[in-house]
Amino acid sequence: MKFPPWTSVSEAARLLKAGEVVAIPTETVYGLAGNAFEPKALAKIFAAKERPTFDPLIVHIADIAQLTDIAREIPDSAYRLAEAYWPGPMTMILPKKECIPDLCTSGLDTVAVRFPNHPVAQQVIKESGLPLAAPSANLFKHVSPTTAEHVAAQLADRIAGIVDGGPCSVGVESSIISLAGSPTVLRPGAITPEMFAKVLGSVDVKESTSKPGQPMAAPGQCDTHYRPQVPLYFGEIPAGYKLPANTVRIAFGMQPGPIPATVNLSETGDMAEATANLYAFMHDLDKPENALILVDPIPNVGVGMALNDRLKRASVKGFGLSG
Ligand code: AMP
Ligand code: MG
Repeated sequence: MKFPPWTSVSEAARLLKAGEVVAIPTETVYGLAGNAFEPKALAKIFAAKERPTFDPLIVHIADIAQLTDIAREIPDSAYRLAEAYWPGPMTMILPKKECIPDLCTSGLDTVAVRFPNHPVAQQVIKESGLPLAAPSANLFKHVSPTTAEHVAAQLADRIAGIVDGGPCSVGVESSIISLAGSPTVLRPGAITPEMFAKVLGSVDVKESTSKPGQPMAAPGQCDTHYRPQVPLYFGEIPAGYKLPANTVRIAFGMQPGPIPATVNLSETGDMAEATANLYAFMHDLDKPENALILVDPIPNVGVGMALNDRLKRASVKGFGLSG
């Protein structure tokens, strides 16, 4: 185990109040948390992740009432969504209050807010008494961590602590919906567009920017992201392409593939099980002895839309195996 050692909830709260950054578990992925009101703490988050400051952070709260500490002009729809899906894997974009530093929002006049459903995350937020800015606890563009060990492998010697809360139950980043303007889903996740529409009547879905050569439509929506070091390919293999000897395959369900399954996201085709497994499999197979990671097609429905979104960004874009 590299430095730092595992950290208790009360030690994490103390470090956060002192302006340090600490990794904490949430139900989506592990987050690298810091005081959302303190620019110096936010700067430490960007530095530890090597994240460019044009990519804004999500602020985590542990009570719906905390919303008014950080956001203004909160529409009734925000409260209806909060009632339905908080605590849970849903982030809302709202006009920000003055007290939220520009660094947190990359200079935007809006702030991203989430109330996570992990008891440890809630305890840390409550004990620190602070809203916590927390992007995924990984190096920029790398695979998000779904265990404390994943965090340690990437960030151990760069941060003040890691709270171990076991494996993440959801396993993919939160759904993001903008309520600054007409409701628009900016990032797919476990709360699906159908679930948003059930509460709001209707919702727009931002066209994915994961197609090569298209400009970013929202900050942080990079075309390449979630990348293992070993090339990962998600898509149809061109006829006649000879796979390298050390190719491994992440299967989904019982569909046939070009080589036998190395691991299976869900043998029964269960989407929630597949989501919870995906990043852990990507971490496990990201070893130098593997030449290529193939991933089976996954139905683009429900939370499968989130998996397709992340895998398109993780994938090399052609069989030249370059970015
Ligand atoms: P991460 O915490 O690493 O999953 O990334 C958070 C993502 O939330 C960013 O990359 C943005 O895509 C999105 N985000 C955060 N704040 C805003 C905002 N004010 N407006 C639009 N998107 C945002
Ligand atoms: Mg991230």
